[in-house]
Amino acid sequence: MKIHEYQAKRIFERYGIPIPKGQVATTPGEAWRIAKELGEPVAVKAQVLAGGRGKAGGVRIARDADEAEQLAKSILGMEIGGLSVKRVLVDEAVDIAREIYLGLVIDRGARRVVMMASGEGGIEIEEIARRWPEKIITQPIDPFIGLRDYQIRATAKGIGLSAEHLSAFSTTAQGLYNAFVDSDASLAEINPLVVTADNKLIALDAKMVLDDNALFRHRYLADMRDVDEENPAERAARVEGLSYVKLDGEVGCMVNGAGLAMATMDMTRLYGGSPANFLDIGGGARAEKVKAALRIILSDPNVKSVLFNIFGGITRCDEVARGIVEALRELETGSQPMPTVPMVARLVGTNEAEARQILAEANLITATTLAEAAEKAVKAARGELVV
Ligand code: GDP
Ligand code: MN
Repeated sequence: MKIHEYQAKRIFERYGIPIPKGQVATTPGEAWRIAKELGEPVAVKAQVLAGGRGKAGGVRIARDADEAEQLAKSILGMEIGGLSVKRVLVDEAVDIAREIYLGLVIDRGARRVVMMASGEGGIEIEEIARRWPEKIITQPIDPFIGLRDYQIRATAKGIGLSAEHLSAFSTTAQGLYNAFVDSDASLAEINPLVVTADNKLIALDAKMVLDDNALFRHRYLADMRDVDEENPAERAARVEGLSYVKLDGEVGCMVNGAGLAMATMDMTRLYGGSPANFLDIGGGARAEKVKAALRIILSDPNVKSVLFNIFGGITRCDEVARGIVEALRELETGSQPMPTVPMVARLVGTNEAEARQILAEANLITATTLAEAAEKAVKAARGELVV
C-alpha cells in the first residue's frame, strides 16, 4: 500500500527526521489560510499516489498566500498519472543548496534491507541508476544489528556530504531505518533530502510503501489507505480476498494457487500469448468467489480470452464449474452486462467429471492438459479458435 507524502512526513516526523512545517488543504481557501499561518513563501504540492509530480506541474512555489490560493486552485482537480488531485500539501518553502537521494528498499536476493544514497537527488532513482550507477552508494543492513555508524559515515562520504552534516544525516538515516522497520515498509524514500542555503538538512519529499500483509498489526497505518486512488479491480480483489495483479496482456487467467498461477502464465507465454493478470482464487474457493474473480478479470478491456486452470484438491472442480456458469449467466443478464470473450477451462482433480459435464452444458472450451489449455486460450484470444 502506498501512502501520501503528507502521511509519510507525519511518520518521518515521529522518528526525528527534519521536515518542513506544513498542512494539507482540500480547498484554495484553506491553502491561503495555511500559507498565512506558516509565513511566506510556501510550496504547494499535489498529493497523489504517483511519482513525477514536479515535472507534471504539481509542485509549485508561491510567493505569498494569495499566490498559494491561486496555485491550489489550479493544482486541485489536476490529473497526474491518471489520478485526480484532491488535496494539496502546503509546506514552508525551502531555499535549496543541494539535493540528495536517500532510500531504503528490501533486497530479496541479499535478504536484507538496503540503504541507497546518491549525491544526485531530486530525480528518480531509476534514472540516477541509468545515468550514474557508480554514484549510488548502497549499504546492506544486518537485520539483527541494524544500521551501523560506520555505514552512515561511509554513505555520507560517498555522496560528498561534509563533516558538519554528519550528525544530522545520521539522525535522518537512523530515523528512516527505524520508521521502515517499525512500519513493515517495503520502500521508504526521501527524494530530495536537501541541504538548505543556511546549511541545514531537511526532507523535502517523503515516500513510503507498506507491506499489505503486515497492515493487520498497524491499525494506524492501515487507516491511511486512500481508497480513491486504488485501482478499482485491485480494490475489488482485496475486498473479496483474492490475490490479483493486473498485467498488460490479453489472456485473463483464473487459477487456484500462486505456483500454479505462475506456471499458467509461463505456459501462456510459451504459446505466444501474454497474461492479462495474475489471479489466485486460493484454496477451497466456492462459486461466489469464482464469480467475483471472473467479474474482475472481465473488467479489464484488454482481456480477449479467459483461461481457467483449476487443480481440485480441497477446491472442488464442480463448485468452480458452477461458479463459472453462474457468473456467465449473471454477466450476460445482469444490470451491468460484461463483454463476453471465449473461455477455456482445464479443471482436474476432485469431482472433475461432474465439472466437465457442467461446463459442456455451458458450451465452454475444455482442455485436459495445461499445455492444451494455454494453446487454446492464446488462439482464442487471437480469434483463431472458433467455438
Ligand atoms: P516529485 O516530483 O513528485 O518527486 O515531488 P518533490 O516533492 O520531490 O518535488 C519536486 C521538486 O520540486 C524537488 O526536487 C525540488 O527541486 C522542488 N521543490 C519542492 N519543494 C520545494 C521548496 O520548498 N523549495 C524549492 N526551491 N524547491 C522545491
Ligand atoms: Mn521527489
